[in-house]
Order: sequence, then C-alpha cells, then structure tokens
Amino acid sequence: MNYSVIADAYEKIESTTKRLEMTASLVDLLKNTSKDIIGKVVYLTQGKLYPDFVGVETGVAEKLAIKALARASGRRESEIQMELQKSGDIGQAAENILAKRRQATFFTKALTVQHVYETLDKIAKTSGSGAVDTKMALLSGLLADASPKEAKYLIRTVTGNLRLGIADMTVLDALAIAYGGGKEARQLIERAYNISSDLGRVAEVVAKQGLEGIKQFQVMVFEPIRPMLSERLASPEEILEKLGGNCMAEYKYDGERIQAHKKDNKVILFSRRLENISSQYPDAVKLIKENVTAKEAILEAECVAIDLETGDMRPFQELMHRRRKYGIQAAIEQYPISLFLFDALYVDGEDYTQETYPVRRQVLEKIIKETDQTKPAIQKLVSNPKDLEDFFEEAIEEGCEGLMCKSIGKDSVYQAGNRGWLWIKYKRDYKSEMTDTVDLVVVGAFHGRGKRVGAYGALLLATYNKEKDMFETVTKCGTGFKDEDLAKIIGMLKPHVIARKNPRVNSMMKPDVWFEPALVLEILGAEVTLSPIHTCAMDSIRKGSGLAIRFPRFTGKYRTDKSAEDATASEELVQMYRGQLKRISEK
Ligand code: ATP
Repeated sequence: MNYSVIADAYEKIESTTKRLEMTASLVDLLKNTSKDIIGKVVYLTQGKLYPDFVGVETGVAEKLAIKALARASGRRESEIQMELQKSGDIGQAAENILAKRRQATFFTKALTVQHVYETLDKIAKTSGSGAVDTKMALLSGLLADASPKEAKYLIRTVTGNLRLGIADMTVLDALAIAYGGGKEARQLIERAYNISSDLGRVAEVVAKQGLEGIKQFQVMVFEPIRPMLSERLASPEEILEKLGGNCMAEYKYDGERIQAHKKDNKVILFSRRLENISSQYPDAVKLIKENVTAKEAILEAECVAIDLETGDMRPFQELMHRRRKYGIQAAIEQYPISLFLFDALYVDGEDYTQETYPVRRQVLEKIIKETDQTKPAIQKLVSNPKDLEDFFEEAIEEGCEGLMCKSIGKDSVYQAGNRGWLWIKYKRDYKSEMTDTVDLVVVGAFHGRGKRVGAYGALLLATYNKEKDMFETVTKCGTGFKDEDLAKIIGMLKPHVIARKNPRVNSMMKPDVWFEPALVLEILGAEVTLSPIHTCAMDSIRKGSGLAIRFPRFTGKYRTDKSAEDATASEELVQMYRGQLKRISEK
C-alpha cells in the first residue's frame, strides 16, 4: 500500500471537525488497508509507531527536520525558515517548499507505508554518536521520494505534530464499523483494548479474525492492562448504601500506582499512565522478583515512601524524589519504598479480571511472601458507617490518603479502563496543617527492628490534659532520631521505666515499655488529624475520636527545661486542629 493513500485520508480527516465524518474517513482508510499492516497504520494515524507503553518516541527536533528538508529540496535553510514563519506549521512549510521543487523535477519512486514505517522506526531508534547525521540522512531520503502532500504529513509525524485528533475511542468505533459488523461491536473491541492497551494489536486481531478473535483476546504479561478507577463519595453512609450495605474498605495509600508484570525472572513495572517505570524503581522490581511466588503474574500495588527503620509511611512528597533519571541508587537509599499490593489480575495462565474482588484478593494473598517492604493492602470488612469512619481515621493517621471502598458483590469484576462505582474513594475535604512544633512527653516505647534492634524503634508520646490531670497519647514517633539520640534516649529514660502503665496516662495503645511521664521532646508534625486510637482531647471534636499528629519527627531538641506537666496541652491541639483546617482541592 502506498503512503499516498494515508496522506489522502489524513487530508480528509483534517477537513472536518465532526466526529462522525472523521470516523467515516478512518473507516474507509482501515478498509483499504491490507490486514498485515493495519496495526502500523493505526499507530501512524495517532502519530505513533508503537503503543505508548513501549516507550519509543518518534520525535526529531524541528531544526533537524529543516536541515533534512533543505537537503531533499535543494533549498536553503533560511528559505525554509521563512516558509515556517509564514505558515507557523512545519508540515505546511514542507508542502510549500516541495511544491516549488515539483515544478522543476519529477519524482520516481512511490513511497510505500511499509517503507515509511520502517524508516521512521529507524529514525526513532537511532542513538549514540553520529545519530543526528544518520537521522538526517534517513529523513531526507524519505522526503526526496515524497510528494508535497506526503511530505507535509511525514514531517508532522516525525516532529510529533500530527495531531489529527483521532482519539482511542474513535479508532475503536472505526474498527467496530470496518471489521466488527457495526458500532454495537465497539464494547467487545474496547474490552480487548482495555486489557492490552495496544490498539494496533486489537486492529490486527479484529481485521484478521473478526469478533471471534476479539472474544478470544487474552491478557498478556508485559502488555499493561488499563487501570480500573474509582468514583468518589463524601460520607460513609452514602458509600455503604451505594455498595449494598457492606464493602471491603482498604487503605488508600498515598504513593504511586504500579502495575507489576512478572514472568520467570523478568519484571516490568508500569505507571498509572502505563509508562514503563522499571528503571526508576529497581528496588520495587527486586521486591516483586523475590516476594511474588507465582511464575507469571500481573499485580497492582501502591508504591509508598517509608522509613525503613520504623516501617512508617512517609509523605507523598518524599516519593516524588524517586521520579528521576539519574542518581537512582542514591535516591533508593534516601527514599526507600514499600509495596502495598491490592489486586491480582492474572496469575499463572489464569485471567482473573472477570472474577470477583474477594476471589482476586485470595489469589493475591496466596502468591505473595509478606515482608517489611511487600504487603497486601490493609483492609477491613465493614457494614456500618461508624466502623467505616473509624477505619478511615486510622488510615489517615497511618499516613494514607483515606480509604478505597470496594464492592464484594457478584459483579465486582476488574473493570479495566473504567471509572465506576465498584470502587469508591473516601478522602478528606479538609486537613489541618501544623505550622508549629509541639513539646510531648514520652510515656512508652516500642522495641526497634532491623538496624534498631536493641534500641527503641518508636516512642509513644502524649499531651497533657490539665483539667483531668492526665497524659493523653497523641502520636507514635520513630523518625528524626540520629544514632546518638537513640543511645542517649535509652539512658535518659532508664530511670523512668515502670512495669505497668502510670495511672495518669490514658492510652489505648500498648507499648513494649512504659515510662512515668518525665522526658519532654520537641516534635514537628505535618498535620493534626482525628484518630480512633489516640486519646488526646477524646470526644472534643467527634465522639469516639481523639486527635493525632501525622508524620511526626523529632526535631533534635530535648526539652529538659520542661516538666511533664509543661508539655503541650491537649486543648492546644484542639485549637490547632480547628484553627488550621484547610480545604483540600478536589480531585
Ligand atoms: P487519586 O488522585 O484520588 O489517586 P486517581 O484518578 O488517580 O485518583 P482513582 O481511581 O480515583 O484514581 O483512585 C484510585 C487510586 O488510588 C489508584 O490509582 C491508586 O493509585 C490509589 N490506591 C491506593 N491504595 C489503593 C487501594 N488499596 N486500592 C486501589 N487503589 C489504591
């Protein structure tokens, strides 16, 4: 097939803004395309050479395109620059320039789609020293054989400016009409796309094997599945009602979504936008290799920044340091991560996307070895608003964004590529940012693990309630302690160790060691939140909830000048909570 067929179709598509007409032109093009290259034609119409997840960019710089055009047309670069300024479009400039050439010479060789595709592919994949010259030679060679119209589209394609406005859904409609017997086939074809993210492969299957082929379409390891997305509701009551009275509430971790594909010893990680992000997360790749026992699997997880010494989650901003191309090893050490797995879509030859959520979760639990850094998402079956709200507060306090409430009904399949009501997110509308430090009393401690064996891993800290003369727990803090602090604190707390909880301490948590309230430390937190497990100012904002400090960090200051009763008052936290409430922008 000649590239001129494509160029003519593009021209027609460009001449309309109506989606129906656009689709009709695309249908004509697809029908005229030989089945062997239909996948390539589909990629080309979207200005691509491969599905996005392959990560091959067509782009050459405008400057290089101008040089290639100069060589192919025998015109000066300055002349092309002027054309470009006039039309504002490099494709149009190419057409105008080559039209002048046509008046003087003849072109002989017709461009085939196959040749164009292969040359563009070579241009995209050429790298290293001498790449610019090679790309230029390849491109000018194509242009030398191109008609002015073909040159227009070739140049737009190669510079990443094709923009015909053909969305994925338009291609699916066109495929349904051209090869599926009509628009009604769109749903089936769309499902194939949702589980493969590869419009070219879908086009080839439907063109060659019709709808029967599409029905047999399989999930494949290393082809990302388009993610299932959730709706949002603002109250536990509405959520439970929508989900039929009960649901599996799950921590909504605040990190980056990862779709992990594993086959034997090979692992690829895809982002929410289905880009290959394996090179950013070699540590996550290793965790999947080591802790997923299945030979083949497609799993979903949230990747979260953590404090390796305490296992606590860290704020989303810390994970953002992992978005980089260079210095990856240093970033891995400075910002370690954990994977919280929340779905199993394919395992050892079985496609689970049509199974219910409880079945998928069972499969997931079977194939992961739980470690400090690889865990299934924490979840709880809830059937009343109070439990949902309590679990929500717990999730926030632990460092999550809120909850994902998931249907466990018969229809709770994995809706690839769709935002639906089977998953409902419950996030906060407001948050209360802390701007000031607080001084808290140490009332308990938890033994350390890993590098902190023999020291305290985290301290249980309290505010002072003057009215009740009680110390009320407000946070568990393990971050911000240097090695010398850890040693020093053990010494400072030693005289205050007691066998049982001090009667003036009000705590629902059970630390490994209790202390009499004496040592005061300065703490900086990110936020004050409601909490079902901390007793600070219990019931004053909401019945059954206390207040907690999120993401606490020891500042390094020992407030030995303060007695336990001089610690920050519980009432002050109430003021902080109320005074610093800020609306969170809607997402
Ligand atoms: P948001 O910006 O709220 O994360 P979103 O548009 O990216 O929204 P949604 O479907 O609305 O996506 O929310 C689900 C997102 O929450 C997922 O993309 C995933 O990254 C994250 N997430 C965290 N924990 C879970 C979990 N347990 N189950 C499903 N998704 C989770």
